[in-house]
Amino acid sequence: AKSQGRNSYYIFDAEMHTQAVNRLTLENDLRKALEREEFIVYYQPIMDIQNNILMGFEALVRWQHPTRGFISPIEFISISEDTGLIVSIDTWMFKAVCQQLAIWKNKFPHRFPLKMTINLSAQDIRKASLMEDIDHTLAETGLDGNSITLEITESRLIEDLPQTIDLLTKLKERNIQISIDDFGTGYSSLNYLHRLPANYLKIDRSFVKEMQEENRNYQMISTIINLSNQLGLKVVAEGIETIEQLQWLQQLKCEFGQGYLFSKPLPVQEIEEKFLIGKKE
Ligand code: C2E
Ligand code: CA
Ligand code: CA
Ligand code: CA
Repeated sequence: AKSQGRNSYYIFDAEMHTQAVNRLTLENDLRKALEREEFIVYYQPIMDIQNNILMGFEALVRWQHPTRGFISPIEFISISEDTGLIVSIDTWMFKAVCQQLAIWKNKFPHRFPLKMTINLSAQDIRKASLMEDIDHTLAETGLDGNSITLEITESRLIEDLPQTIDLLTKLKERNIQISIDDFGTGYSSLNYLHRLPANYLKIDRSFVKEMQEENRNYQMISTIINLSNQLGLKVVAEGIETIEQLQWLQQLKCEFGQGYLFSKPLPVQEIEEKFLIGKKE
């Protein structure tokens, strides 16, 4: 037993133990979450900020834990990646989101062509049956590839460049668009950027966040946008929270934007009420 917490070694040990147990519990719960249907999808609007119109949505997974309530992806995505569970989660997401998109297309035809963006992780890329699964889901939902954008985090793209390029080429054959997520947070980006058959580049919100305080970030964003234009990539800025940030990005000719200024990620019902019902072209 510890003597009134004076022995810091024991305290540290106990904390580590608690953390490890928490993680194990979470891991176990995660394994069951899919079959128990505890995941749901939230959608965040992506705006065409030059014309101020809705371009589409990014689908983001949410976990409704039976006792702990909502658990943020920040807490469970990395564990899911470590354990390989991410592949099942993303496969489920892709299917669920395509089904939802097909429903919306039917229900709100005047709102289309709206685009749907779905996240992939590095392990999805390595999965042998990924292309087959995607083809199957597209066929099942009757969706065309061009309504789907897949987002892959910058640093993950280069882990196996030849394999990535091979996959992206196949996706391109289906008219599926590719977006490079969290751009600017990885490294040596310029060396391979021109080799990737991508369509969009997403500026990480850490740059947008400090646009006003740090002129360096403003310059950085300006440079990324110019570079993207030269490479034929369209730019999406994430994490837009203020009017000032929006105006700066508009001035810099950034085409698309996403952030709390427009809307937080929302469940289906609220997306319908706020963005799909009753709005005419
Ligand atoms: P991400 O792909 O970069 O997604 C954007 C994150 O920024 C989302 O967090 C979104 O809620 C948040 N966000 C959007 N606008 C703002 C804003 O104006 N201010 C701030 N502070 N935050 C904003 P979320 O939903 O918690 O997701 C976190 C990360 O988890 C995602 O980052 C993505 O890397 C991962 N993730 C989420 N869903 C999936 C999924 O289905 N599959 C995979 N593989 N990863 C996912
Ligand atoms: Ca994303
Ligand atoms: Ca991002
Ligand atoms: Ca991110």
